[in-house]
Amino acid sequence: METAAIINGKQVADTLVDTIATRVAQLDAEGKRLPGLAVVMVGSNPASDVYVRNKTRRCQQAGIVGQEFRLDEATTESDLLGLVDRLNADPSVDGILVQLPLPSHLNEQRVLNRIAVAKDVDGFHPNNVGKLSLGDATALVPCTPQGCVTLAQSVLGEDLSGKHVVIVGRSNIVGKPAAQLFLAQHCSVTVVHSRSSNGAELARQADILVVAVGRAEMVGPEWVKPGAVVIDVGINRIEGDGKAKLVGDVAFAPVAKVAAAITPVPGGVGPMTIAYLLENTMKAYEMNQHQCD
Ligand code: NAP
Repeated sequence: METAAIINGKQVADTLVDTIATRVAQLDAEGKRLPGLAVVMVGSNPASDVYVRNKTRRCQQAGIVGQEFRLDEATTESDLLGLVDRLNADPSVDGILVQLPLPSHLNEQRVLNRIAVAKDVDGFHPNNVGKLSLGDATALVPCTPQGCVTLAQSVLGEDLSGKHVVIVGRSNIVGKPAAQLFLAQHCSVTVVHSRSSNGAELARQADILVVAVGRAEMVGPEWVKPGAVVIDVGINRIEGDGKAKLVGDVAFAPVAKVAAAITPVPGGVGPMTIAYLLENTMKAYEMNQHQCD
């Protein structure tokens, strides 16, 4: 039997999107230009296709002007960089997101580096990565890790200071920025990765355990301290009972018997990522407007 509270990421995300929608409606009522987000996708990838559609649908719900740019699989790097340059120069576009992964003939980092720092709503540009680690308030910060912090706060309250956070995974898009964000919340942070010799032992010390490894149900109850808050970032598609289903990196049912609270997959971190994309677009818009004033 489960004992853990299930953290309802969809509900937390809906609240955030409602707040953004109210801010956008206010801009509209004042006759101001509305925030704009451009989402660029190259080629056809079924998972990316769903993400892109969800992102533009959520934008529309909040009143943000979402534009999709779908480019052919064979698009050259110079054509893609040309589009990024045009979007960088377009005053109606506050945020630019290039959906990853890109086809292998395109250099992802070169494309991400071309996005204007002030429009980099994914927070992957080296300048934003540096600003995050410096604690610069103008940083645009990766969306998924921001969602992890907010979900932990939804259980433990705003003040996370003194908590021990163990993050399993050290990717540039989740693990590393999550470590910076929890540090900024005055937590003690341990990062576990594939070369850690004692991952489960370290994870068992966590008050907050964040898992982002991309391995279906890898983290079982032996990784979890009784009473810990578990944030499962993983999204893995597996075959079960003859049909595909989504599972996280955490073995949900056995871990829910040990943890105090746990995010489900789907419905946990996923909706928060999109909500923070909209929040970052608002932040980019406000910084952009401030410069124009
Ligand atoms: P990634 O770039 O593949 O990184 C995986 C990390 O896990 C690496 O740092 C790797 O360590 C570590 N790792 C692999 N095996 C391990 C093991 N046995 N023990 C400890 N660490 C191990 O993955 P990612 O992009 O961070 O994504 C992780 C998961 O989150 C995926 O399922 C992805 O789909 C999901 N995701 C979800 C969202 C969302 O919106 N919910 C957003 C982004 C990602 P090394 O560095 O040593 O190789």
